[in-house]
Amino acid sequence: MQEINRLIELDRLYIWHPFTQMKEWSETEPVIIVEGRDCFIKDIKGRWYLDGVSSLWVNIHGHARKEINDAIKAQLDLIAHSTLLGMANVPSILLAERLVSLMPEGLTKVFYSDDGSTAVEVALKMAFQYWVHKGEKQRVTFVCLNNGYHGDTLGAVSVGGIDIFHSTFKPLLFKTRRAPSPYCYRCELGKDYPGCGMECLGALEEILSKHHHEIAALIIEPLVQAAGGIITQPPGYLKGLRELCTKYNILMIADEVATGFGRTGRMFAVEHEGVRPDIICLSKGITGGYLPLGVTIATEEIFNAFLGRFEDLKTFFHGHSYTGNQLACAAALASLDIFEKDRVLEGLQPKIKFLKDRLERMKELYHVGDVRHCGFIAGIELVRDKKTKESFGYIDRIGWRVAHEARQRGVFIRPLGNIIVIMPPLSISMENLERFLYVIEESIKSATG
Ligand SMILES: *Cc1c(COP(=O)(O)O)cnc(C)c1O
Repeated sequence: MQEINRLIELDRLYIWHPFTQMKEWSETEPVIIVEGRDCFIKDIKGRWYLDGVSSLWVNIHGHARKEINDAIKAQLDLIAHSTLLGMANVPSILLAERLVSLMPEGLTKVFYSDDGSTAVEVALKMAFQYWVHKGEKQRVTFVCLNNGYHGDTLGAVSVGGIDIFHSTFKPLLFKTRRAPSPYCYRCELGKDYPGCGMECLGALEEILSKHHHEIAALIIEPLVQAAGGIITQPPGYLKGLRELCTKYNILMIADEVATGFGRTGRMFAVEHEGVRPDIICLSKGITGGYLPLGVTIATEEIFNAFLGRFEDLKTFFHGHSYTGNQLACAAALASLDIFEKDRVLEGLQPKIKFLKDRLERMKELYHVGDVRHCGFIAGIELVRDKKTKESFGYIDRIGWRVAHEARQRGVFIRPLGNIIVIMPPLSISMENLERFLYVIEESIKSATG
C-alpha cells in the first residue's frame, strides 16, 4: 500500500499527462496499470478492466500475445536498434515487403518514422517537395476536412479540423483550405442524406476548381473521421473524393493511422471503395499495439521525382533517430503473421455483425441521438434532446460520466466529447464483446438518468 501511495504521489509530482487537465487529475486517484492479458488490463491494486479503447486504438491481438512478445525478445537478442540513415536492417526490409504486398497496386515505397503524427508530417513534406521537383513551387497549400484529425505536431495540426484542439495554435499553422465534413447527422450544408446527392463533395469540388494550382494534396481519413467523433462517410464519398483529386491533379493522402490493420473489417479502409491514394499513412495498429512505429508509403511516381544527382539536392531531407527501429518492425511482422495464421479478418465479421445489432438496439435509448459504425469502430452520439438534436453542453461532460459509470463496472473507455467510442481489440471474444456492450448500454442509461 505504501508503495502504491508513493507511485501515486510521484505521478502527481512528475507526470504531465496528454490531453488532460492536470488540475483535475491531481484531485483524483490515477489508475496505474501494471499488466495486460488478452483484452484486459490490470491496475496496481489488482483490479482488471476490459480495455475498451484498445489502449488508445492501437491494440489488435490483445495484450501480452506470446507470438509478438517472442518476436520482440528474439530481435532484442540480436540488436534493438541501428540507424536507417546510411544503413539498412533486416526487419525493416522484410516489413516493407509485407506492407507493399498488402497495399493497393502501385504503392511501393516505404518511408519509416515513429508514430501517426510523424507519418503525416512525412506525407505532407513529401507531397509538397514532389511538386517542387515537378516545377510547381506555387503548390504551398493543402485541402483538409472539418473534423479531421491527423496528429498533434504542427504540420499535422495545420491540416486538422477539430477547433477545440487546434484553434489555439492557429497563429503558428500553415495555410490550408477546409472542406465540409461528411457529417450527415449534423450536415454543415443543412442537407439530408441520401437526398443531398453528397453536396459536400460539390463544396469540395468548388475549392479544388478554384484553387487547384496552389494545392499540393488533399488529406483524408478514409471512411471514418475518427477523433473528430467517429464520423462515418456515406458510401461512395471516398471514391468521389479520389475522382476529384485525379480530375484536378492533386495528390491524395490517405491517413489510415486509425483505420488501418483491420479496424474497418478490411485490412485497409481504402479497400472498401477500391481507392488507391498517392500516399498512405500508417501507425497505431501496425505493431499490434506493442511499440511505436509510423509508416508513409508513396507511389513509384512520387519516389521517382526525388531521384537525381547528389548535387541536384532532390534528396528528401527528413528522418528521425529511431527510423526503422528493429524491435518495432519485428513486432509488426509478428502481428501480420497473426493476421494470417488466425484469419483475423474472417473471425472479425461475426463480431462486427453482433456489434451492429447491439448498436441498433442502443439507438432506442432516450439520449442516444445517432450511432455510427464502420467495421469494428463505433461511436454513440449522446444528445440532450433527440428530436431537436440539441447537444449536451461541454460542461455537462456527459461522455465522461458514461466513462466513469463504465469504469465502476470494470470497463475502460475514453469518450470524444459527447460521443461514446467503441474500439476494443480485434481479438476480443464474442463473450467479452457482449459483456462490453452490455456495460456500455447500462452506463449510458445510468449516466443519462
Ligand atoms: C491517432 C491519429 C494520428 C496521430 O497518431 P499519433 O501516433 O498519436 O501521433 C494521426 N491520424 C489519425 C487518423 C489518427 O487517428
